[in-house]
Formats: sequence, structure tokens, C-alpha cells
Amino acid sequence: MNLSWQVGDTRITRIEELLGPLFDPVQFFPAFDPEMLIEHKDWLFPNHVDARSGRIIASMHAWLIETPHHNILIDSCIGNDKDRNPYRNWHEMNTDWMARLQSTGLSPTDIDYVLCTHLHVDHVGWNTVWVNGTWQPTFANARYVIAEAELRHLEATLNAIDPGDEFALVNQKTYFDSIQPVLHQTDLVVQSQALISDRLNIDLTPGHTPGSLTIALSSQGEEARFCGDICHHPLQVYEPTMNSAYCELPEQAIATRLALLEDCAENGHLLMPAHFGPSHAAKVHRSGEAFNLSWH
Ligand SMILES: [Zn+2]
Repeated sequence: MNLSWQVGDTRITRIEELLGPLFDPVQFFPAFDPEMLIEHKDWLFPNHVDARSGRIIASMHAWLIETPHHNILIDSCIGNDKDRNPYRNWHEMNTDWMARLQSTGLSPTDIDYVLCTHLHVDHVGWNTVWVNGTWQPTFANARYVIAEAELRHLEATLNAIDPGDEFALVNQKTYFDSIQPVLHQTDLVVQSQALISDRLNIDLTPGHTPGSLTIALSSQGEEARFCGDICHHPLQVYEPTMNSAYCELPEQAIATRLALLEDCAENGHLLMPAHFGPSHAAKVHRSGEAFNLSWH
């Protein structure tokens, strides 16, 4: 069953691809300290850390935003059928993500915009599907939206991949099967701008990657922030200077995270990240030098 939220007159639905203890925190967070599990034990278990394995719970989901006039999809997960070796868990996946999207009553042709907060492998996979021997845009009538800085950064790395860098190797494959095939219907964002006037803003928030975007939704006095991987895991709200191993500009990633959390705490925005475990969305509150969450 899909979980939904209401922000003003706008409905937001989480379209799940995967949920589970996907990552080892020691590998995922270079600054991880096992003491954190004790310090935050009151809220970490069972939704955010798996007590048995010690692994962090991660969700892979897209956000569907339905306004009275537009259907918008934020981040299209890992996707089916894709060569993701050596990431064996994500290789040639076969999930029913598409059926979950369609259970909302929408079909792929109803999507007006596909917004990619960034171009890592787990945010663009359903951009394309395998049809008649080629990767074709899943959302035929949509404009895809990507930061120009993000696309150029990825393109610049394509010919100089270190064969030992598995993450770079997988993102290279992702470019050719999930990004290049949609570029003819893609709008490149070069500065923060409105996508839909008075309702949806695209903000450049570099740090996790050079062209990371945050999507700001505003409706009838309520606001939400779709922040991609600025915070991967809720521990980074309580420990906001802790980057993931995948934050490409570490100092800027911290500054951007602090600014986002400060904004959400000051103004009561609903934080809707790409990978938080249940209940997936939260309000942010100041707590000394850091922040805490109330789940929504
Ligand atoms: Zn991600």
C-alpha cells in the first residue's frame, strides 16, 4: 500500500521500490561511531536501524506529487532490468514499483515532470524502460529536469573511470541506460527557479553532488522540502556534520545540510528525503547545536 501525505491542496504519495537493512553504517558513514546507536536508541529501532544485523534501514522510493493541474515524480529509484554489476543486489532488479505507481490511478503518460535531485544510480533508474531492444523514456509526455552542473560533472567523469571504483562504474552505466536516452526531453537547470509558479521551486543545493537539487513545495500556507540525499539517514539530522561516503563535496554537503535543517526547523517545513525509513517524512526541530525529528 502506498503512503500519502497532504500539503495544502497537494497530495504526495511515496512509491516504494525497496525497504530494508541495506547498508553497513561503518562503510556508509566514515565518521560513524557505534556509541551513536546507544545515544539515539530511543528512536533508531526498529525503523531506522536493524537491531539484529546492526545495518541501517534505507528506503528506496519516489515521491509522486499531484497538484490540481500537474503530476510530478521526484527521483525514479533504481529501476528494473538494468546491468548494475558489480552491485549485485541492484543488478537486473524486478520489482513491482511500476504497479505501485499505477495503483494511484495514474499511468506513465500522465506524468508531466520527472525531477532528478541528482544523478546517482538510485535516483534515475525508472527514467527508462527496456522496449524493443533499447532503453526508452518511461514517461513519454514528461519533461525530465536535471541541474546542468550535475549532468556536466557526470559527463566529465565518463572517460576516466577508475576500474576499482565500483560506485563510479555503476554511475557510468546509469548514464548510458537511464540519462542519455531522456536528454532529448530534459530541461537543464542553471539557477534556482520556479517550476510551477507559487507552488514548486527548484533550488540548487550542491554538496552531496555538485548539482544536487532540492524541490520546495508550497500550497495553502504549508510547505515541504524534497531534499534528495542531503540527509540519507535520520541520524544525520541528529548528527548534522556526519556525511555519507557518497557526499562528493564534503564541506559543502555539511553547510547545505545545516542550512536545510535550519530552514525546516525555523519555518515548519515537512522534510521529505529520498531514503528515510518509516514514516519517511518528518518535521525538524532545533535541539542545541543539532536537530531532532517528529515523524509525520
Ligand atoms: Zn540516494
